Parts: sequence; C-alpha cells; structure tokens
Amino acid sequence: MTIQSLHPTTLAFLETKPLPMLINGEWKATKHTLGVENPATGAQIAQVCLADAQDVDSAVMVADSAFPAWAALSPAERALRLTKLAELINRDTQVLADLECIDVGKPVSAALGFDVPFAAQCFDYFAQVAQEAEYEIELGLEVTDSQTIKRPYGVAAFVFPWNFPLTLCAWGIAPALAAGNTVVIKPASETPLSTLYLAKLCEEAGFPKGVVNIVTGQGSVAGEALINHPKIKLMSFTGSTEVGKHVGEVCGRNLVPAKLELGGKGAAVVCKDADFDGAVEGLTGALTLNAGQVCCTASRWYIHESIYDEFVSKTKAAFEAIPIGNGLDSDSVMGPMCTHKQMSKVLQCIAEAQSAGAEIVTGGDRVTSGELVKGYFIQPTLLAGKDDNPWAQEEIFGPVAFLLKFTDEDEVIERANRNPYGLANSVWTIDLARAKEIAARLVSGNSWINAHNVFEYGLHYGACNQSGCGGGVNSRATFEGYLRHQSVASIR
Ligand code: NAP
Ligand code: MG
Repeated sequence: MTIQSLHPTTLAFLETKPLPMLINGEWKATKHTLGVENPATGAQIAQVCLADAQDVDSAVMVADSAFPAWAALSPAERALRLTKLAELINRDTQVLADLECIDVGKPVSAALGFDVPFAAQCFDYFAQVAQEAEYEIELGLEVTDSQTIKRPYGVAAFVFPWNFPLTLCAWGIAPALAAGNTVVIKPASETPLSTLYLAKLCEEAGFPKGVVNIVTGQGSVAGEALINHPKIKLMSFTGSTEVGKHVGEVCGRNLVPAKLELGGKGAAVVCKDADFDGAVEGLTGALTLNAGQVCCTASRWYIHESIYDEFVSKTKAAFEAIPIGNGLDSDSVMGPMCTHKQMSKVLQCIAEAQSAGAEIVTGGDRVTSGELVKGYFIQPTLLAGKDDNPWAQEEIFGPVAFLLKFTDEDEVIERANRNPYGLANSVWTIDLARAKEIAARLVSGNSWINAHNVFEYGLHYGACNQSGCGGGVNSRATFEGYLRHQSVASIR
C-alpha cells in the first residue's frame, strides 16, 4: 500500500501546505515552515508551521481569556464536548491511524488496535470522572464553618514527545479540559500531524474558541516560550529526563506546578517457574511495540539462570521472525524508527554496548533489504552481558533488550532497583502470590505481572525517581491533579 491509497480524508488533510495551527478557534499559518517526514520511506509528506514566541504568547493569552467561561460551565456541559470528541475520534479512526503510521512509522494495525481507540476512550473516561467528582467538601470542623472547594487552575500547557502523539495528547488534555482548564499544546516537531487533526475534531466537537490551542514548532523556540510563559498555571511535560529536568527548573523558578512524565529502563524479571512461552511472546511483543520507542517498555531482562539458555534461544528465534516493514502494509508488525536521528542513536548505543563487553545475540544492524533501505528500520536486537554495561542501565529507546542472568529473588530485586529510573517493571511467574510480593518490592510507578505495557482507565500510570514526578495519567487521581484546593472558612 502506498501513500496514494490512504483514506481520502487523510489525503485531503495533507493537501494544505503548510498545515496551520489552531489559536483562538482560528487557523493560523506562519511564514517559516517545517517538513514532516515518513520514516518508512524518508519522503516528505506534509509541511507544518513553525511557531515563534509571539505565536505562543497569542495562544496562551487567548487560552487565559477563554478560561473563565469554560471553567464556569457545569461538569456535564464540559463533558458533552469531551464525549462528542470521543465520538469524532471513533468516526475518523482510519484517518488518525493513517496519520500515526506515516508520521511516526507505527503499523496502521497497531494504531487501529490501540492508539486511536484508546485515545477516544480517554475523553469518555474523564467526561465521566468529571461528572462524578466532588467539587465542594464540607469539613465538619469545630471552630470553623469550613469547606474545601476544588477549582481548575487556568491555562495548562502541554509539551509532548514523538512516540505516541495522539494517545499521550489525549492522556494529558482530557483530564485538564474535563476539570475546566484551558490548554495550549506543543506536539513534537517530528510528529505533529495527528495532533493537528485532533484540533480539527475539537473544533467540530464544539469546544469554545480559545479552549484548545495547538502551536507547532521547535522545542528550543516554541517549547521554551511555552514553559516560560508567565500566564501558564500548570505545566505538563512528557519526554526525555534531560529536557524534563530543564522544564522542572523553569517551572520551579516561576512556581508553576509541573507534571513530568520522563524516560525509563524497565526491568522484566523472568522466574524459573514462569510460563515460558508466554514470557517469550509477551516480552518480544513488548519490545517490538512501536519499534521499542516506548518509555515504559522492558529493556533489561533478568532471566533465572536455570532457564537462561533456552529462553535466549527461543527469544532469538522470535525476534528473527518479526515481520518488519512499512506500517501501511498489513503484514508489518514492526515499523521503522521514528527519525533518522533516533535510528543513528540506537545503532550507536548498540556499538557502545558491544565495546563495553556485551554480546550481540541477534540483530544489531539496520535493515536494508529492498525498499526498506529508504527508511529507518532496525533489526530487533538482543544484547547479553553484565549490569555494569552502561547500556544495560541507560535508556536506548529502540528495539533493543539487554539480557542478564540472575540466581535468587532478593538479588534480582536489588539489581533491578539499583537503576536510577522508576517507570515500569514486570515479573513473570505462575505463582501469583509470589508475583505480587516481587511486584510490590520492585520500586517504580508501575509493576506488572505476566505482561508488560498494561493500561486501563482507572489504573494509575505514574513514575518515580528519574522517570518523573508530580504527574501520572489515566486515573481519578490524575483528574484531581488538575484541580486546585481552596479553603473557604468563617469562625462559628
Ligand atoms: P524530548 O527530546 O525530551 O522532547 C520532548 C518534547 O520536548 C518535544 O516536543 C520537544 O520539542 C520538546 N522540547 C525539547 N527541548 C525543549 C525545551 N528546551 N523547552 C521546551 N520543550 C522542549 O523527548 P523525545 O525524544 O521527543 O521523546 C522520547 C523520550 O520521551 C524518551 O525518553 C521517553 O522515555 C520519553 N517518554 C516518556 C513517557 C512517559 O509517560 N513517562 C511517554 C512517552 C515518552 P522538539 O520536538 O522540537 O524537539
Ligand atoms: Mg515523522
């Protein structure tokens, strides 16, 4: 399948050059633009605007003006727009899946199976949560007649990475909007397409002007202007730990609460009594999902020594059987790296890991067969070695797993917890009681059992240590995080 055979609505959307940004319900084009590339072919597929500091200022100022009226609506009135948006995402599933495929590189089938429907569900979930929430709580105290009231903050700013543009955007803005905040969004410069399409759907869903604003542009310009803007009242950043620390510093200086969702180096602990084939299949699937460009993926695999050799040989065979290809082809399971830069970085990490003593069990190279040579494809890679290899501990963000052997439970938990990140780990054993104990002792935002990458609305997905702070998505607690508490009291 080629770009020309995409859904007619996708093709019509891409025709506008450059794709304008949404500010105050108006579509604004800029003089300077940026090409958007399809990582499966290297071809330019669209042009987007490059916002400067003035564009960002306009977006924040209109979001600030739109805030009082949006906040004054009842939760049910706001929920109407969110549920309408969910309906429109479901109507245009194919278009959004096409855009995620040609922009990020992920297979259309993956976007249809997860990214798009899960984004729609997110708006429905927070529409419901907002209507069930309590906004005024009587405290029943002795000396004072007092209440806690909960109110939205004002303008919430969002900066997103390139790996799950639509889903992460939904995870961020759905609770913010449902709680009554207005939003300004900066998607990653490499992957702005689905966010711009979502902006069209927000308009169609009837969000009032200025409630949802999107600025496309570079982190160093548009991103900086947004995180530094004096009118933002909340900041939500998803991306690398390095940039996240910078965002945290800026917000700290301005006393703006920041939600930071950052990188990871998840451990999978495979015990000797694991469902062997289930673990091989589950971990292979987790690592090749989105070509390994998943913050919470398992990339350090601790395998019990008694099953290590057999596990390695079965996983090697599973890796070598993964259908790699253009995401527009229905038989592709793993697409390319999202950018040439990311492909080069992953290949560099593999080379450095090897220099530091790791053995390449399988993979390790770019895929250059046939048409794939034009894109940024990498073979799923298994490295084997020791914990002190830097790439056994640092995030690679590609389809690369590092195999490590362990002997006993206490030892593996200590080794897993020595890593500075704290996003997501998993434990694999048929003994569920023991699995729960091990899961609880693995320090991170998320501990999964006999699966990796487990999501459901209502299940909090958060982070600790170098993987982030102040944030967390997908739960009632997330929604509460978009409301500030105010005490209202008089002396009895
Ligand atoms: P990144 O380089 O940190 O970029 C993330 C976003 O920040 C992009 O929109 C980028 O803009 C922007 N940015 C860069 N410099 C900025 C600055 N000085 N001020 C404001 N914004 C700035 O991360 P990435 O490479 O896109 O994404 C991969 C990382 O995200 C990985 O570490 C992954 O683990 C993490 N991640 C975490 C989660 C989570 O939930 N914890 C989810 C997904 C991804 P440009 O696009 O213009 O550079
Ligand atoms: Mg792209």
